[in-house]
Order: sequence, then C-alpha cells, then structure tokens
Amino acid sequence: IFSKKYKLTKEILGKGEFGLVGKAIRKVSIKNWEQSHEDEKKVVAIKAIAKQRLDQDMIKHIRSEMKILNTLDHPNIIKYYEDFENDTHIFLVMELFEGGTLYEKMIKLVDRKKTFSEFDACLIIEKLLRAIAFCHENNICHRDLKPENILINQNLELKIIDFGLSKQRNRNLRVFKTRVGSPSYIAPEVLQTDQYGFECDIWSIGVILYVLVSGYMPFGAKSMTELLAKVKKGYYDFRAPTFDKVSSQCMDLISKMMSFYPKNRPIASKALQHEWFKINQAKIS
Ligand code: ADP
Ligand code: MG
Ligand code: MG
Repeated sequence: IFSKKYKLTKEILGKGEFGLVGKAIRKVSIKNWEQSHEDEKKVVAIKAIAKQRLDQDMIKHIRSEMKILNTLDHPNIIKYYEDFENDTHIFLVMELFEGGTLYEKMIKLVDRKKTFSEFDACLIIEKLLRAIAFCHENNICHRDLKPENILINQNLELKIIDFGLSKQRNRNLRVFKTRVGSPSYIAPEVLQTDQYGFECDIWSIGVILYVLVSGYMPFGAKSMTELLAKVKKGYYDFRAPTFDKVSSQCMDLISKMMSFYPKNRPIASKALQHEWFKINQAKIS
C-alpha cells in the first residue's frame, strides 16, 4: 500500500534522476483538511525516490532537500508539505504546479525557430532573481539552477524546484566544497576549484538569460569533454545570429552575471536594479 492519506493518479509530472514525480490526491476529508492545512491544496505533487539506488550521500541530499524546502517560504519557490516512506521509496509531498518546465517551453520555441521576447525573458529573470535573492539571504545556495528545475505556466508564473543539491552555508565558511551542477549552466569556478560560493547561482541565471533571448547555448560542444573544457575557460560571445535583435542592455546584464571572476558578478538584489529591467518595466504602462 502506498499511503493512507494520498491516492496516486496515473499522471506523471516528470522524471528525475532517482525516480518519478506524480500527481496525487489528498484523501483527508475537506473539513479536516481545511482546518489543519488551510494553505495546502488538495491535489499535490509527490516525488518518489527509490531507496535501492541510494547511498548514504544521496540520502543526506534528500534529507537536506526536505529541510531546505521546508525553511523557504516564497511565491517563486515550490512549497514542501511533508514526507513519508515505505520499504522501497522515500516520498516527498509538495505543492503541485502545472504547466511544465522552462526547458519544455524553450525546446518548443527553438523547434519553431523562435526565442522568448526580451519582455517575457525579463518577467522570468526577475522572478528567478527574486527567488534566488531570498535563498541567498537565507544562506541557501541552489547550485543546480537550469530550465529543467524551473516550473512555469502560460501566465509566466514560476516556481523553482529541485533543491536536492542545495547547500545551507555554514556561517563561518565562505565557500562550498563539492562539485555539483549541470555542465551547461555550471559556473567555471565550480569546475576549476573546489571553492565557490553563492555567485555560482548568478552565473546560472546569466546562462538562462543568454539561452532565453538567443535560443543558443553559450558553450556549444559536441562532447562532454569539449563542453567541460569550454565552460572551464568561461569564454563565450554574442555572435549567434539571433543576438542581432537583442538589446545592448540585455547583453550587458548577461556579461555581468556571466563574469568569469565570481567577485565581478552582481548579487541578486543588485542585478535586479540593472537598467534592462527598467526599460522592460516601462513597456508595461
Ligand atoms: P530530480 O532531482 O531527479 O531532477 P526534480 O525535483 O527536478 O527531480 O523533478 C523532476 C521533474 O518532475 C521536474 O523536472 C518537473 O518536470 C517535475 N516536477 C517536479 N516537481 C514538480 C511539482 N511540484 N509540480 C509539477 N511538476 C514537478
Ligand atoms: Mg531536477
Ligand atoms: Mg535533484
């Protein structure tokens, strides 16, 4: 038996490295449910992680994911409700957010030879920076920001997920010491040294902005070895043809967030003050 409290639907929301994320329904009666969990919805997302393939390190990651999600209360970060386990799996119950990932949206646009407008990219990057500013203020570094870990709907409402690799920074330590992340969005210092800090999330948001407005990856490569070598050097340019119609302010913000030296990158709250946001906000009125 899976759970007395939740009933799994057949709908699969996504596939993770270690299991599936499915849609489930809370069986607790509306009356009780309203009293005890006013802000929890009745339909939830459950991430099932198979225990069989986990080593101690991974179990530590999962526990830290739950702890971190539980601490963070922000409109652009997925809410964690609870967890439970059976003999075979650990289950993480969280807020359901439908609409798919930013990755799926990007692929659809690229297939149609289109890109996000700067206006839409601005709405997305602004929310990402606000959520990451909030994480950093709470001493949490996401460390795995990429389009697959960003949920987004038609109205461009957005939630960051997958805090499995996140780290709560020890107040006395300025840096982290494990190499993690996804090659295309990972910061050079993470690959080069074992010392890096919050600035790696800003780099990843820079890469996301690069891809949103151009439809190209800043580090194109035919193999993993080539990709890692390119990211390590951190050299990229704006020569992709689609950059012809990208504003100079947008490229300026990308260059700042994708500064090779972490210390040269703006912190999230500073990045939000960049001129590019002001130009796009003016378009609303
Ligand atoms: P992993 O750590 O294995 O990458 P994720 O937490 O990123 O697992 O989840 C895998 C996929 O499941 C995501 O890319 C997304 O498509 C989907 N997903 C995860 N959480 C939710 C959620 N709360 N609501 C809707 N879809 C989700
Ligand atoms: Mg993921
Ligand atoms: Mg993960």
